[in-house]
Amino acid sequence: MMSNEAELRRALIETAIAAQREGLNRGTSGNLSVRCGAGFLITPSGMPASEQTPEDIVFMDMDGNASGRCKPSSEWRFHRDLLLARPELNAVLHAHSTFATTLACLGRDIPPFHYMIAAAGGKSIRCAPYATFGSQELSHHALQAMTQRKACLLANHGMLAAETSLKRVLALAVEVETLCEQYCRALQIGDPVILPDAEMERVLEKFKHYGQHASNT
Ligand code: 13P
Ligand code: ZN
Repeated sequence: MMSNEAELRRALIETAIAAQREGLNRGTSGNLSVRCGAGFLITPSGMPASEQTPEDIVFMDMDGNASGRCKPSSEWRFHRDLLLARPELNAVLHAHSTFATTLACLGRDIPPFHYMIAAAGGKSIRCAPYATFGSQELSHHALQAMTQRKACLLANHGMLAAETSLKRVLALAVEVETLCEQYCRALQIGDPVILPDAEMERVLEKFKHYGQHASNT
């Protein structure tokens, strides 16, 4: 095993544990993957993050061939398909977090009720249609909903986030869950005001330079 791979195995488990600590996942719900060489590493199926050891993490090639002593996550198809279709993304996190799942059960896209919706890459966070967990159909719906996006909801199931690194995908998933909580609460009080298209265009443009970028203004 390359030392880089050993490090990635440890980082994958640490991030899966952090996702539980952040309240994104409980029990054995959710899963996590990271690109590694010509394939990717993925959490084992049905095993709580706190019980996973580096040897339990499964390596898969892009044809879906697994190597390791454990069975890969039942959702390996959407992890594989996303990493294959989106070379700019290196880490994928799936969660059944409470507020994202609440909205996913309504089967509706989240409109730009808050400018931070742009953190997911566009002017809305889409909700992919329902399909059985682990199915190729679910992967197909998820990839469609992720077009020009880094996160989406999965109807009657949960959320999906993808980013350039494990650290960033965890931060994005926490942000999406925060937005979902805010939207749920706003909906309980009234009709949230939706930001106009032109404003979201401005925000998306500003996000290209937000934070510790060289040309930050
Ligand atoms: P796994 O334990 O197989 O990763 O499944 C959890 C899950 O969230 C299925 O959608
Ligand atoms: Zn799930």
